[in-house]
Amino acid sequence: MTKKRALITGISGQDGAYLAKLLLKKGYFVVGGERQNASGSAWRLKELGIEDKVKIVPFELLEENNIIDVIRSGKFDEIYNLAAQSFVGNSYSSPIFTSNVNALGVTRILEAIRHFSKKTKFYQASTSEMYGNSKSGRQNEFTPLQPVSPYAISKLYAHWMVNMYRDAYDIFCCSGILFNHESPLRGNEFVTKKIIKDLARVKYNELSNLTLGNVYSKRDWGYSEDYVGAMWMMLQQKKANDFVISSGKTYTVKEFVNKAAKYYGFDLIWQGKGINEKAIDKNSNKIVVKIDKKYFRPTEVNFLYGNSDKAKKILKWSPKTNINQLIKKMCDYEISRFK
Ligand code: NDP
Ligand code: GDP
Repeated sequence: MTKKRALITGISGQDGAYLAKLLLKKGYFVVGGERQNASGSAWRLKELGIEDKVKIVPFELLEENNIIDVIRSGKFDEIYNLAAQSFVGNSYSSPIFTSNVNALGVTRILEAIRHFSKKTKFYQASTSEMYGNSKSGRQNEFTPLQPVSPYAISKLYAHWMVNMYRDAYDIFCCSGILFNHESPLRGNEFVTKKIIKDLARVKYNELSNLTLGNVYSKRDWGYSEDYVGAMWMMLQQKKANDFVISSGKTYTVKEFVNKAAKYYGFDLIWQGKGINEKAIDKNSNKIVVKIDKKYFRPTEVNFLYGNSDKAKKILKWSPKTNINQLIKKMCDYEISRFK
């Protein structure tokens, strides 16, 4: 039997690496799109021991001709678009770049599929950030989308384009509305990785304290390796559909800090308010966490809390890894780097 062929854009990112591992295990021929001037980052594929098992091709979301070439010649059964300017924080300083990559980049892919590869199934990485501060409890596929950052607005454009191409051109394309998902391979700029990496550095005397912004926002954090499984399941359905993928639990950033700190053996006590708030380790009396206003965002998503009942019912998907198991995986990875 011929192998299924999949293109993963953003193969050098967190989800790209875990998805490549999953598809290889399922017997796919995996092609990974990597942009020119990439972050030099086969490191995640190396960490998973699969760097020699995927074919890497140049793929730049800003380059229409490059996208057409890759998609026309690739004869892919499935394309997973994971490439993006994915950091909300940077989207405020680069709103135009973020829109060009995350919004128009997706239209470039959809147009290439429409004209040159109509049978290819397409997955788009949508995001819970699109909910913004919509006034509802747990967020599902029917919750109004009210994005508040350039990142979320760019992703919302792509989300609706996918919807439109599905209806107008009968293309199998769908969006996974994924809530925050983390792993030892998460980018350093995201809050979970920053917390876990910097607390390890404090523990091993490489850094004096962890410095954060708003510790009162709530996030629904899951494990990346669980979530890429849902992406694959979406493309195996008879009908293209959008799904919310979440852990169904929500915690403040501060609660995440406390859990990670406890795992490392700190006993934190919080004092003060606003930017004067800090966390002191009762054992050593050292200030372990400080607040700095430079990490606050111009607009904030205060509360994310997903409801994945639809994925559970139709995809038979549910998360396998809870927050404590996730924190353990991430902390153990950092500790192993010091040993
Ligand atoms: P990462 O930031 O780890 O990976 C993003 C990937 O996109 C990297 O491979 C990056 O390449 C690539 N990329 C960036 N710009 C371009 C470009 N112009 N052309 C081609 N490739 C580009 O993200 P994640 O793996 O965490 O997330 C995967 C996707 O899921 C993203 O689209 C993200 O927005 C979305 N998402 C993620 C969530 C999460 O919690 N992780 C939640 C919801 C959605 P390079 O290595 O060179 O920078
Ligand atoms: P996001 O949900 O995609 O924005 O994921 P992040 O991991 O970047 O941020 C999650 C939350 O942590 C947001 O509410 C941030 O404002 C908050 N946060 C607090 N301090 C920091 C920090 O130092 N870095 C980051 N990235 N986020 C922080």
